[in-house]
Amino acid sequence: MASKYQAPRGTFDVLPEQGRARSRLEGAAAAIFARAGYEPVATPSFEDTDLFVRGVGRSTDIVTKEMFTFEDKGGRSLTLRPEGTAPICRAYLEHGMHKLAQPVKLCYAGPFFRHERPQAGRYRQFHQLGIECIGTDSPLADAEAIMLLSELLGELGVPGVQLRLGSLGSLEARREYLEELKAHLRAHEGELSKEVRERIDLNPLRAFDSDDEGTRGVMTTAPTIVGRLAGEDVEHFAEVRALLDAAGIAYEIDPTLVRGLDYYTRTIFSFVCDALGAQSEVGGGGRYDGLIEQLGGPPTPAVGWAAGIERILLALDEEEESAERDAFVAIADEGQRRRAMALTTELRRAGLSAEVDLGGRGLKGQLKHADRIGARRVLILEADGSAQLRDMQSGEQRAVHTGNLIEEMTGGDS
Ligand code: ATP
Ligand code: MG
Repeated sequence: MASKYQAPRGTFDVLPEQGRARSRLEGAAAAIFARAGYEPVATPSFEDTDLFVRGVGRSTDIVTKEMFTFEDKGGRSLTLRPEGTAPICRAYLEHGMHKLAQPVKLCYAGPFFRHERPQAGRYRQFHQLGIECIGTDSPLADAEAIMLLSELLGELGVPGVQLRLGSLGSLEARREYLEELKAHLRAHEGELSKEVRERIDLNPLRAFDSDDEGTRGVMTTAPTIVGRLAGEDVEHFAEVRALLDAAGIAYEIDPTLVRGLDYYTRTIFSFVCDALGAQSEVGGGGRYDGLIEQLGGPPTPAVGWAAGIERILLALDEEEESAERDAFVAIADEGQRRRAMALTTELRRAGLSAEVDLGGRGLKGQLKHADRIGARRVLILEADGSAQLRDMQSGEQRAVHTGNLIEEMTGGDS
C-alpha cells in the first residue's frame, strides 16, 4: 500500500542495504581520525542565524540562498546548520578551548541542511564528515589535513580522485589582489552574469566559480592570486606542497580554485571525482586563519575540511552489500525457545553476529530465513535437547554440545 506521506523534497531515507555501506564509511573515517589524534565532537543541528551570517559570509550562496532559517517561539532567529566549521569554532570559543594546548584537533560527522535545487549528489539534508585543526598556522597541519582525506578516499577505494590545490594568501595580502580582480571584472562588466556583476564589490572571487558562459570567458584572462602570493604566503604554500610531495600525494595546482565560504585564507583544496559529473567534489576545505577572530575570539589560525558522505557513496557506486551473519539459532520445537535466546546472547557476547527467529516460523521457514540473511551456520535445537550445527555453504551437519558452543563455532575450520 502506497503511503500517503513521502520524505520531503531533497531528502531521502537510508535503507538497510545503503546503511551498511554508510556504516563502513563512517567506521573507516573514525579509525583514521582516531589514529591521527582527532577527537570526535558534535554540535547542535541548529544555531543562531547570525553565527552563519558572520562565519560563512553575508555574500556567499549559502547565506543568501541556501539557509533553512526559522524563528523559534521566543522570537530568536535560528538556522539549520549548513556547514560545520563555524559551529565548531563557536564551541571552541564557548568552552575556552583556546586555553588548552594547541592545536586542538577535532572531527565530526552528521547531517547538514541547504535549500538547494535537488539533483544527484545534491540534497537539502545531506551528511558530512570532517576535521578541524585549530590553533596552529604550521603548514604541517595543512598537509596533515589533506593527507587524512586522501587516506580516507584511498582506503575506501573511491576511483579517479584528483586533488586540486590553491592558495588565497593571507587576508592582508589578498586586499591588493582583490582590487586588481575587481578592476578586471569592472572592465568586462557587460560580459558578466547579473549575479557576478552585482557582487563585484562584495565577493569578486566567486566569479571564478560561475557556470555562466560570459563570466567564464572573462575569467580566463583574470589575474589569479597564486601568481601574486608574496612573503610568508609563498613560503607557506611551498612548504605545504613539499610535504605533500614527500608523502607521495599527487595534486594539481589550480590558480582558479575558490571555495563557497568567505573564511578561507592561504591553502585551499578540493578532491574531485569525474564519475560524479556536475557534482564532482567529494570533499574540500582549507585554512581559515581569520574565522575565530571574526566570531569574537582571539586571532587563531586553523585548517580543516568536510567531505560529503553521499557523494563518496555515489562515487563508490558499490553493489549494495548483502547481509551476513555468523550464526542463526533455530528451534525444532517451541520448548527450546528460551534456550535459543540464551545461546544467541552467548554467541553475541563472544563477538559473533547471531540471530534467532522472531517471526514464529516453523523449522523449514527458519532455515529458509537463515539462508536469506546470509547466516554461515545454523544451530538447530532439537526437541530432545540435542543440537545440530549445519554449515549453510556445504550443507554438512553434525551433532554438537551446546556447553562449549563458542569453541564449536570459532574453533577448528575458522
Ligand atoms: P558544491 O560546489 O558541490 O556546491 P560546496 O562548495 O558547496 O560544494 P562545501 O560547502 O565545501 O561544498 O561542502 C563540503 C562537501 O559537502 C562538498 O564537497 C560535497 O561533497 C558536500 N556537499 C555540499 N553541498 C551538498 C549538498 N547539497 N548535498 C550533498 N552533498 C553536499
Ligand atoms: Mg554548494
